[in-house]
Order: sequence, then C-alpha cells, then structure tokens
Amino acid sequence: MRVREVTLREIRMRLATPFETSLGRTTERRIILLEADVDGVTGWGECTAGENPFYSPEDTETAWHILVNYLWPIVKGKEFGSAAEVWGLLEAVRGHAMAKAALETAIWDAEAKQKNVPLWRMLGGVREEIPCGVSIGIQETLDELVAAVKKELAAGYQRIKIKIKPGNDLLPVQRLRQEFPRLKLMVDANSAYRKTDWPLLKDLDGFYLMMIEQPLGWDDLYGHVELQKKLQTPICLDECIHTYEQAEAAIALGACKIINIKLGRAGGFHEARSIHDLCIRNGVPVWCGGVLESGIGRAHNIAMSTMENFSLPGDVSASKRYWAEDVIEPEVEVTPAGTIRVPTGAGIGFTVRKEKIQGITARMESLR
Ligand code: MG
Repeated sequence: MRVREVTLREIRMRLATPFETSLGRTTERRIILLEADVDGVTGWGECTAGENPFYSPEDTETAWHILVNYLWPIVKGKEFGSAAEVWGLLEAVRGHAMAKAALETAIWDAEAKQKNVPLWRMLGGVREEIPCGVSIGIQETLDELVAAVKKELAAGYQRIKIKIKPGNDLLPVQRLRQEFPRLKLMVDANSAYRKTDWPLLKDLDGFYLMMIEQPLGWDDLYGHVELQKKLQTPICLDECIHTYEQAEAAIALGACKIINIKLGRAGGFHEARSIHDLCIRNGVPVWCGGVLESGIGRAHNIAMSTMENFSLPGDVSASKRYWAEDVIEPEVEVTPAGTIRVPTGAGIGFTVRKEKIQGITARMESLR
C-alpha cells in the first residue's frame, strides 16, 4: 500500500448545544478532517485535538503542523503492507497521538474499502449493535440537569455520565440519585480535583456510581493509585491513558479498575486495539469516550466499540445531540433500546458528505 495524497481540511461546526466541563465551555468546534488517497481509494480520518491544549497537550494548530511537517513526510512514497503497520512508521514522532490517529485511521478506512469489508470486521469487532450512553455537560441549575437526564433516558440511552467540577459535584449527584435511584450513573471530573479534595471524593462512594472518571491530574498515576485504595467506587482513567505503557502501568499499579479508550488519545486503531487487548488480559472493562467529534470521528468510534471488551456503554451517541446537520449520511441514530446498529458497508460504512464539508471548510491543504 502507498498513500498517494493527503488532504487536510479544517472545518468549523457549531454545537447544537454548548458543552461545559471542568475545562471550560465549547460552542464551536475547529476539526481537522483528513482525506487520504491510498492506491486510488479514499479513506477518511478525523483529528480529535481540541481548539486549545486543555484536555491534552495537542490542539488544532499543533496537529496541523505535525501532520504537514512530520507525519506526511514519513509516509510520503513509503510502501507498507497494511494500515496496522502505519503506527510503527510514525513512532519516530513522540506524542502527538491525535495527529497520528487522523492519518492512521484514514488509512484503515481506505484499506477496509480496498478489501470491500466493514472496518469493524477488519478490526476484529464482534458486536453488531453497540450499547450507548451520553455525556451531559455541567448545567446551570439542578432542575435543568434533571430535565436533561429525563430527555436522554426517554431517548433510550443506557447510562448517564455527568461532568463535575469542584463546587458542582455532590449536589448534582445527590439530586440525580433522589430522582433516579436505579440509574446507571457515573461522573467525569476531567482532572479537576487535588489531594485536599479526597474527602469529598470519598463522599461520592455513598451514591453507588458506576465509576468516577479521571478525578486527579492528567498524568498523575500515583495519585490515582492512592485514591483508588481509599474509594469503593471504581476509578476510570481517561486523560492518563495516552500510551499503551501508561495503560500497563495504571493496571499493574491499581490506579484504576476501568479504562476509557479514546481513539485519538491512543494514536489510532493499532494502539487502541493493543490497549483493548491488554485490558482483556487483565479483566479491565473498557468503553469508548467522545470528544465532540463530527460524524467521521463518530463512525470510527462505532467501529472501535464493536471490539469484545467494549462491554460498558460509551459516550458514542446520536449525531443530532451535537449537530444540526452532520457531515456523514446516514446520520448516526440511536435505537429506542439505547444502541447503535453498526453499519454493514465497506470501510467506516457511512457516506461522507463532501459538499457539506466544502461549505464549512476554513482552510485546506493537499500534500502529494
Ligand atoms: Mg473523560
């Protein structure tokens, strides 16, 4: 296989509803889409880097720079046997997992299309329907939060995750438990807590949450090891798991009992699958997190979520929760049972709406 050409596009998409976490509020996304021509077959990838380096050290600008100046020159003109080999080629660049994933996942899509098989089958996926949950941002009032949860439960979603931050944690959890005693509920702190907050985190044990996601620093494995010893509630790591080795260390040290795998954070399918397999060997369940992706990133997340150990409902939900109009068709829809039916077409299994993308492209660069 050889990549003949890569086209980068930065698109602007306004969220249907602003999304607030402990890291701030997002109203519009700047997303890099990557179109790869692999032996004449087109594959699509999405870079999940944010507009700012708050969730991870990467942002839209660094990803564009790394793709143009470092990753493209590595693959340019190079022959390789399969998409699974691309990660190894890119290893010379340290970090920048989201930039790598944009390129790597596009090549996986192209290879699956060349072979005329669904991408999820090529990845070894086993699920024809994936269980779905939602991630609800921080709301202005508790009544609004309750209303938001009711709406998602009515739509069928199987589990609810709420974002928390210091000062906006115990009360929302308490209120949701009063209203929905049997709800599959979890919280995500996006690294907002410090050691002085541990008593408060311990108080969350009283609400039988499914898990507390990434309470401490984005790279603080030791802190999570110590905190997990004090908590009954399982800790799930997100930000900390940015390499296979970090996942290995987190599991061996007991820093978490559950892992959220994000395709971009892992650097693409090769590494995401390695972490997934490591978790199976260690009896650690995983689920797929989201980062306000367009339909292309969402399609890749669906493919990844078909793998065996994605046994917990993830953050992969319907297109309409995020966008007035998505960049793929059909748009991602959720069944009344709170599942997404995995597409049967070749590659990502969705058609990319190129005209729609052209209309929202802020910059574009083709690399040959
Ligand atoms: Mg998270």
